[in-house]
Amino acid sequence: LTGRLGDIFDRLRKRGALSEDDVNAALREVRIALLEADVALPAVKAFVTGVKEKAVGTEVLRGINPGQMVIKIVHDHLVELLGSQVEDLNLEAVPPVPILMLGLQGSGKTTTSAKIAVRLKNRDKKKVLLASLDTRRPAAQEQLRILGQQTGVASLPIIAGQQPVEIARRAMEVGRLEGFDVVILDTAGRLAIDEELMAEVVAIRDATKPVESLLVVDAMTGQDAVTVATNFNEKVGITGIVMTRIDGDARGGAALSMRHVTGKPIKLMGMGEKTDALEPFHPDRIAGRILGMGDVVSLVEKAAESIDKEEAEKLAKKLEKGGFDLEDMLSQMRQIRKLGGMGGMMNLLPGMGKIKEQLKNANIDEKILDRQEAIILSMTKKERKKPDILNASRRRRIAMGAGVTVADVNRLIKQYQDMSEMMKKMKKMGQKGLLRQGLG
Ligand code: GDP
Ligand code: MG
Repeated sequence: LTGRLGDIFDRLRKRGALSEDDVNAALREVRIALLEADVALPAVKAFVTGVKEKAVGTEVLRGINPGQMVIKIVHDHLVELLGSQVEDLNLEAVPPVPILMLGLQGSGKTTTSAKIAVRLKNRDKKKVLLASLDTRRPAAQEQLRILGQQTGVASLPIIAGQQPVEIARRAMEVGRLEGFDVVILDTAGRLAIDEELMAEVVAIRDATKPVESLLVVDAMTGQDAVTVATNFNEKVGITGIVMTRIDGDARGGAALSMRHVTGKPIKLMGMGEKTDALEPFHPDRIAGRILGMGDVVSLVEKAAESIDKEEAEKLAKKLEKGGFDLEDMLSQMRQIRKLGGMGGMMNLLPGMGKIKEQLKNANIDEKILDRQEAIILSMTKKERKKPDILNASRRRRIAMGAGVTVADVNRLIKQYQDMSEMMKKMKKMGQKGLLRQGLG
């Protein structure tokens, strides 16, 4: 068991060096996670390259365990790419402010139109007019009218036979005459991008000069997200993205793909079918999902909190001198505990399922760390600094003090010796420049 625990220390310290191999290995896992989340390949490639650039040679690396480091860089980079600032709808224009809703059929345009109307009405006290320009689906205009009625939002009276551009002009006219603050223009979608659809929305855009042109995309959208976002952005010009069905179990990789190809902010997310199920976009939540890591944020924060940079720097200096003692081992063990034990730490790494499994098999639990800590604490300061003086009688005394057997004490000392040996090796590697990346 000692050997196995030693292995883990070994692994952690080795990762501490953040060699390029380590970074690459972690990024391989990340790459898989992104592809599984349906992020488009070009976006995955760009992301991995970006992370790698950041990871290699970052000063912040100092004192932070490499596993946490990599995942923190990955997570932060993802949040940053997804948009670290919450971007609200832009209503800065002379009213009535037109908002154009775009997207494929079934993406959630009509529902989102009503949701935005409700939000603007309740939160911003705006007078909103809903107008359906969907003459394609038989009941589409009626659908929006009913949603308006249910939520107490005005909708444009339906005139049979009018074409989308005519309806759009009329909506703006009614908006002006009746003093509306905002006019939401809900368009027809298709099952896929085609010329006719683009021509229609471009004509509507030119007739209304929207301040916001929001592309509505289902979070389930896979690789297609790139085509959809690119087309709408290049041909119509979008100002933002709304992701719907975040309440489902889609990993939401489309968010990253669309940000990658358009650079436009994801402003809102749909969280259900009801008209109040709309929220500002939370990049950190989506980042956690895309990485497939549940509550990655709190784990990362926990890691960041418990990292004692000073201590790590001290250790790094000691390593330079080659003097790793039992005090250092104790403080390392404490750092691991702060992270919630081995399991907690492993949770910080993406795709660490395998190692977690091994840990479980190795049966490493808190009790072992408890016992090891007790042993070191039963030593005098001098013994901790100079483990060489730990003769048989001292070991017996320590075992008594810690309430363990002499064999336990011997095991710990052996483990210390192994670690110390490994540190020396690392130091040598360090001189070749590997260690410097991580600790120096
Ligand atoms: P449109 O064709 O783009 O106008 O799409 P609709 O607004 O008509 O929505 C299509 C379906 O998706 C409807 O059944 C909606 O209730 C549903 N829907 C829209 N947004 C969401 C969402 O955020 N979550 C869930 N669960 N369903 C949604
Ligand atoms: Mg619709």
